Amino acid sequence: MTEQVDRERLWALYRRLWVAFGPQGWWPAESPFEVAVGAILTQAVSWRNVSAALDRIKAAGALSVEALLAAPPGRLEEWLRPTLYFRAKAAKLRTFLEAVRAAGGLEALWAGPPAEARARLLAIPGIGPETADDMMLYGAGQPVLVVDAYTHRILVRAGVVPAGRFRYEPLRRGLEAAFAPPDVPRFKEFHALVVRLGKDYCRPQPRCGPCPARAVCATGRAQPGEEEQGALGDVEPGRLP
Ligand code: SF4
Repeated sequence: MTEQVDRERLWALYRRLWVAFGPQGWWPAESPFEVAVGAILTQAVSWRNVSAALDRIKAAGALSVEALLAAPPGRLEEWLRPTLYFRAKAAKLRTFLEAVRAAGGLEALWAGPPAEARARLLAIPGIGPETADDMMLYGAGQPVLVVDAYTHRILVRAGVVPAGRFRYEPLRRGLEAAFAPPDVPRFKEFHALVVRLGKDYCRPQPRCGPCPARAVCATGRAQPGEEEQGALGDVEPGRLP
């Protein structure tokens, strides 16, 4: 099943966010392995907390498969304490690290066609679709779009997808089809820009007044004063990926 996506509105939103926010350069990591660890730690918590936990691990010189697996459980939990549910995350991280070791390393785990690599990640307990796709896109550099409930809420408000229940796979497939052909830089920027929009403006209570996406958003355009924001997709995107 594939979500129905209004391609014109999607591209207009993407262009508008690109012009408003510029390149986001996400994901902030020094290695694919750091992306993978961060993808597990970021579940249900802000990046600031993840960053604090990663700093603790780095300060201990333990940002590697073997060093993390060699750490006593209490030590690992202490490093992860800044993240929510740190005991559960420590257990998930250990399970993932054991899978990496069993595969012969991260590159081996990510090797092959994206669909096969993704299936291997999803087979690891504790790795859900968003975590797997964070790793695929930002760690392995594979053309797999990342979506989440926040993306869905924004796209419904913007009129890009119809209102309804968030379903991960249909939305991911629908957006990938609308953005075809697959493009890693584009997928990276789109997800990061939507996260930025959700953090700064399109919160549970949206701040439509100052929102830079208002002119291309069905919800924003339905409010008074939208004329000042310009027509749908009228911005110059420059070097849009
Ligand atoms: S205009 Fe309002 S509803 Fe639309 S993206 Fe911005 S904050 Fe969200």
